[in-house]
Amino acid sequence: MCQEMGSHYTASPVIGLVDPDKEGELRTYVTEFGFEFLLVQSFQKIASYLERIQPKLVIVDCQHTDFSIDGFQYFFEKYPDSRNVSFLLLAGPEEQALEIEEKVYRNVEITHLSGQGLEEKVRSHLQPSVVITFWGVRGSIPSANRENMVYGGNTTCLQIESPLQNQLLIFDSGTGIRNLGNEIANYHNNRASGHIFLTHPHWDHIQGFPFFKPLYQPENRFIIHMPEQYKGGTREVLSGHMTKTFFPVTLEMFAADIEYVTQEEERVEYEGFDLEYMVANHPTKTAIYKIYIGDYVIVFAPDNELGEEPSPLRFIQKFESFVSEADLLIHDAQYNRDTYKSRKGWGHSAWEDVVEISRNAGVKRLYLTHHDPDSTDEYLEKIDDRLQAYNGSPFQEIEMAKEKMVVKLPLVDQKV
Ligand SMILES: [Zn+2]
Ligand SMILES: [Zn+2]
Repeated sequence: MCQEMGSHYTASPVIGLVDPDKEGELRTYVTEFGFEFLLVQSFQKIASYLERIQPKLVIVDCQHTDFSIDGFQYFFEKYPDSRNVSFLLLAGPEEQALEIEEKVYRNVEITHLSGQGLEEKVRSHLQPSVVITFWGVRGSIPSANRENMVYGGNTTCLQIESPLQNQLLIFDSGTGIRNLGNEIANYHNNRASGHIFLTHPHWDHIQGFPFFKPLYQPENRFIIHMPEQYKGGTREVLSGHMTKTFFPVTLEMFAADIEYVTQEEERVEYEGFDLEYMVANHPTKTAIYKIYIGDYVIVFAPDNELGEEPSPLRFIQKFESFVSEADLLIHDAQYNRDTYKSRKGWGHSAWEDVVEISRNAGVKRLYLTHHDPDSTDEYLEKIDDRLQAYNGSPFQEIEMAKEKMVVKLPLVDQKV
């Protein structure tokens, strides 16, 4: 089966803070790759874009009159979201470049190249990739506290983009989906169509659903998928959640054309990707989605308990074979082995168990998510530090997921 539909979602632009003598050249490289190039005159302008969208790349010329190292640092302090965006800095004199190199963040690359070298550098940033964006990484309930702002307080929502398909591909509609919807509303005229795959209908995975603005746009079309629940299929469960008793908007009030699909476990072919799932170890029927996109296999398991006692050995074995050799696994790590002891059977995992089982299964990249609402940034940073021991080997990448974090899997030899 192959489901196809039109879409209006277009790629993010490239923003340039550059002098006019470099503009023409950069604009050519960027538009050749199919991206829009927006020229700005100040950091302030970059900031105003960052408030609304996540650009593909920001190119900053150190020779520009508005550039100073202090100003650049101040910019990153004032706009923490900019740490999730790729910056390419066109270096000026050697001394200045050295000073910048000492201070910059890891999302900033400095290049001394010009001409063809610069063209290749820009191209490497625009290389077609499968792009995974974490719009919400918190488990259970949003936690809008000062001590949670680095990792983020919004609940589960993940977006996967790929040049092989031009629809929106969203997993779960926790409160994080609101920011994705706002970006589409602000920057894409609220025009978007695509799929929303819900793992299960626990509050933290559907609470953002009616706040997703593209659902109110008549030209848009969405297919909402979820495993069958005890109380019915996708439509029945969502309409039960959105009765006037609980919420002022009902499903009938959405303007977009919406189809509700009760998803089976079997592998289904869609436009640009395939998808199947296994049922998680969680209190209600919950999907662990496996997405085949490009040459990659991505597994999304935000709610899944891997503890030994409540999950029979055969479940662990089944899970290991399901995620075996996955290119990217995004997995529940709400607890640690200590806190897990008093929460067995609640449907969530200790990060140590996830690391161990993923390693046994040969998972290549592991991102831990569904952070406990009481886990502070300080605590999560400590775990992140401990994960560094596994970074590079046995995992290519391992990290605690942060809200608005972007992971790119390059599509080698494939052009848009
Ligand atoms: Zn959850
Ligand atoms: Zn759940």
